[in-house]
Amino acid sequence: MIAEGASIVGTLTPCDLAVLTFDDGPTPGVTEGILDALSDEGAGATFFVLLTRARRTPELLKRITDAGHEIALHGHDHRRLTNVPPASLPRLLKDSRDELEQLCGSDVRWYRPTYGAQNRPLWHAARTAGLTSVLWSIECCDWLTLPPDDYLAPVQEGSLPGSIVLLHDGFADALDGADDGSPPTLDRARLAREVVQKAREQSLRVFGVADALIHSEPRWQVWLDEVRAPLAGENRLRAGQ
Ligand SMILES: [Zn+2]
Repeated sequence: MIAEGASIVGTLTPCDLAVLTFDDGPTPGVTEGILDALSDEGAGATFFVLLTRARRTPELLKRITDAGHEIALHGHDHRRLTNVPPASLPRLLKDSRDELEQLCGSDVRWYRPTYGAQNRPLWHAARTAGLTSVLWSIECCDWLTLPPDDYLAPVQEGSLPGSIVLLHDGFADALDGADDGSPPTLDRARLAREVVQKAREQSLRVFGVADALIHSEPRWQVWLDEVRAPLAGENRLRAGQ
């Protein structure tokens, strides 16, 4: 029996690994470059996709799974689900999970709420839909345009072991039900490569969520809007997508 709101935010050391995750894709012209970088570096990852995008780009979904990476659910679209009527959430998440499993042809186990916004009704709805909430412990703020070195500052020595790193292979827009302004200017494939290289410098292997949990136990944290203190990055314009 886990505590209400308990979500996976990392893995327990002493396992020498880090977990890489990408939200808001798949995005043609972006996801491919990230897959190439991960292949070059021998790293695994979990892609928390939007159904609005997965439907439009089934071939990219297949490329992700063919490369050995994991597909998970970020949302039917990019609305903030803590704002919708709670009674609609169990059906919405169950239908989203079912459709994504049909599209990608494999089990979908993990759910990451949009904007990291999770309240009690949403957490329970995910559980009812057979999903476990997976948030993160490191965010590189790649939803902002920053000097390149700033993206890497959170993955310096000491922070990475056992962490779940939040990155993005897209930027949700009006077609995803989002209204978050202009996308940032950055080379997402390069950032993915640099994060993996930082992990390698620290003798860490890089996995997606499921593979990481073969080698380590999950680290749980109660992650609810009702009780959670904001991460440092959330002071920078808005919460991580
Ligand atoms: Zn997002």
